[in-house]
Order: sequence, then structure tokens, then C-alpha cells
Amino acid sequence: MRTLRLVTTLAVAGLLAGGVAVVAATPASAARAVFSVTNNWGNGYQGQVTVTNDTSAPITSWRVEFDLPSSSAVSQSWNAQQTTSGSHYTFANVSWNGTLAAGASTSFGFLVNGTGTPVNCTVNGASCAGGPPPTTPPPTTPPPTTPPPTTGTPVERHGQLRVCGTTMCDRSGARVQLRGISSMWLNWETAPYAENLSALTWMRDNWNLQVIRAAMGVEPAGAYLSDPAKARAQVETIINNAVTAGVYVIVDWHAHEAQNNQSQAVAFFGDLARRYGHLPNVIWEPYNEPLQVSWTNVIKPYHQAVVSAIRAADPDNIVVLGTPTWSQDVDVAAASPVTGTNLMYTLHFYSCTHGASLRAKGDAAIRAGLALFVTEWGASNADGGLDGRSCLPEAQSWIDWMKANGISWTAWKLDVGTDTTNLLSPGAPVTGGWTNYLHGHAPFVVANMR
Ligand code: MG
Repeated sequence: MRTLRLVTTLAVAGLLAGGVAVVAATPASAARAVFSVTNNWGNGYQGQVTVTNDTSAPITSWRVEFDLPSSSAVSQSWNAQQTTSGSHYTFANVSWNGTLAAGASTSFGFLVNGTGTPVNCTVNGASCAGGPPPTTPPPTTPPPTTPPPTTGTPVERHGQLRVCGTTMCDRSGARVQLRGISSMWLNWETAPYAENLSALTWMRDNWNLQVIRAAMGVEPAGAYLSDPAKARAQVETIINNAVTAGVYVIVDWHAHEAQNNQSQAVAFFGDLARRYGHLPNVIWEPYNEPLQVSWTNVIKPYHQAVVSAIRAADPDNIVVLGTPTWSQDVDVAAASPVTGTNLMYTLHFYSCTHGASLRAKGDAAIRAGLALFVTEWGASNADGGLDGRSCLPEAQSWIDWMKANGISWTAWKLDVGTDTTNLLSPGAPVTGGWTNYLHGHAPFVVANMR
């Protein structure tokens, strides 16, 4: 059996003052465990386990097991496949973090109700304890840290965003209405338009685009759940491009039944928040369009779990929350908002289908104190315009309403196709320069971005 080293980072309420590390017993074996305080609250804490391959050969899977006292229990975990038997917990790798090169590390995290710490820890069947503790943190993918090379970009002008009342404000406290476009479902793009830096820069400079939404499909075949490495790479490319171009980027968990995969969403957003949450560019959107399911019993608990995973690493970036009925029932969400700061709520409209009665729901939500963000819209039927028809007068009423209420928006969607909402026509280069390739509602969208 190849030897693994285990580093356990635990936050234990009341155990330690000042978050100082405590080192477990370290007999002369290759495995070891380190406990340190990172985050805790009244009667619970957040733990992290880092698995390190100390051998000179790659490993292709790992499994960590431990027990908790009966007074404590894991409530959530991420970046590992958790199975529970009484007080015994087993965490195995998921597809993207199973292979560890020699010396490489990976981490998973969990929340515990109670203050009891793990005992009887094993990694691939061997004791976790052993060896000296590391003197440096485990390596993670380095996030971009250099400022955008250009001047006068949207992010340079506005900086860190926050919710102010029912609208969005920039770092100077001025109200800001961001306008931009959404990608296609990233798993169904006909070409990688959304991942192209030249195209993004061109849209910024020619369309006045300020924000791009990365619509990461989750549930369909080929999307996140079946190919997480590919989907994550697409999203991270878009984030990195947005940082370089100085535009805002929405990370969209593009799902319709996200409550069925809550642990994956918690893991995804927790991990990205740790690596990108310090950047002013990023806006989190944990649930594109819930179906007609209960806000209070289904959607709100999901949001609370994902928001707490984000906030464990990123205390301030805006989170935009999906609402029932394909993100239309913002008035329902307003009756029982999610607890937290810098939270906004999603309203989606398609102007051949939705008009004044949906705007009235938006008005009711705003009166109740919600801040709204339209992360999808089209001058089309709600199916995205399969019939090719546009409804521009009603779309103009929506544009005027969003402007009057300071509501930011991203229009659906950056791809070639025959739907009204496909912004590009066949032959559009992947690198931008699309003046002669606008399709469907694109001329209307672009005119309202400028
Ligand atoms: Mg932040």
C-alpha cells in the first residue's frame, strides 16, 4: 500500500484561543495529523482535511475514516464522497481529486454540529498520525493576484460591489447598474465563445459589456455532475479572463433541481470562494432556475447551505439567489429572505411571455426590501425563442423598468443558433469582431448595453 500523509485542519470551538495549531502525536511512521483552529462558532466548527501523497509514485484514490463523539455530527461536506455509519465517517475522493502525484495534496472540508474532534483516524487503512507537521500550508491552485493591465475597466471604475438598500453600489457608494451577457449552457456551446479573452475584451470595448455570466450546466449529460473537471476548467478560464479584462463575472450553477445535488454545490462554491473570493470581479449565483418547488422548505435551505460555504471563505462578494418558478417568484422569496449580507435575488423574464404582471412581482419584492438582479432575459418566448420571434416593445418596458430600479442584467445567450436569443449568426469568429454577426435580439441587447 502506498503511504499517505494526512493533515487535518479543524476548528474547535473553545478548544484554543487565537486559532493556534495543535499537533497530534507523531510516531515514526509516514502518516500524520495536524489540528488547527480555522473557523468556529457557538457549538460547531468547520474542518478541513488535507491528504498528501508522501511517496515517490502517484496514487489514484484515497479514503479517510474517523469517528466523532456521539455529541457531534458532520452536517455537510464537500470535495469528497461522504458515507456515514453511526458515528463513523468515511470520506473518499471524487473523480477530479483522486489522483495525487508524488508530493501532491488535496483537501476536503466539512461542517460539524458539536465540538467533538475526530478520533481513530485512518487514511487508506493506516493511522493518520505520524511524521512532523508541515511548516507551510498545502498548495492550492494560485488565484490571479495581479491587477488588470488595462485602465478604466469596469472593475477599475467600480471595484468591490455591495448591496445598498434594494440596489447595488460600488466601492465609492455610488449606485451601479451592470449590463452584460450570459454564456450559453457551457456544456452545449457550439464554440468556446465565452472562454475567449479576445472576444470578452472586444465585447467590453465595443458593446460596453461590464459583466459576463458563466452558465455552467450541472445536470445534463456532459455537464458538471458527469464531467466536473471540464466544467470547472471552463468556469475558471472565464473568471481568469474577466480578471484580465477588468469585467465582472457571475459564476452560475445552471441547474433546475439543485437541491438534489446540494453537497456538490456546497463543495464547488466553497472551493471557488476560497480561491477567487478575494477578487472584486466575482459574483456568485448558486441556483439558476428552481422549478415550482417550495421556497421555504426546499430552495431557501439550499441557499443557506451554499451561502454559508461561500461566506466561510468570502465574507463580502455578492451572491444572487434563484427564486421559485424559473426565477420569477421574487415576491415569495421576499416574504422569507435568506439571512446574510450582500445577497440579491434573481428575476428572469422573456418578453413575449412575461410582462406587467411579472414586473409587479418584482415591484412587490423591491417594496419588501429585496435587491434584484436579472441574470437572464430575452426579447423572446420563455423557451428562448424557438420560433425566432422577438417582442421588442415589451422588452423595452423591461429595459426601462430595470433602469429605473437600478437592476443589473445579463442577457441570454452568447452562441450561434436559430433561437431569438442566440446573439450570433453562423460564421461568427470565436475571437470577437461580431459587428456583422448579430442575430435575433442581439441588436436590441447591444444597443441597451451601450
Ligand atoms: Mg470577497
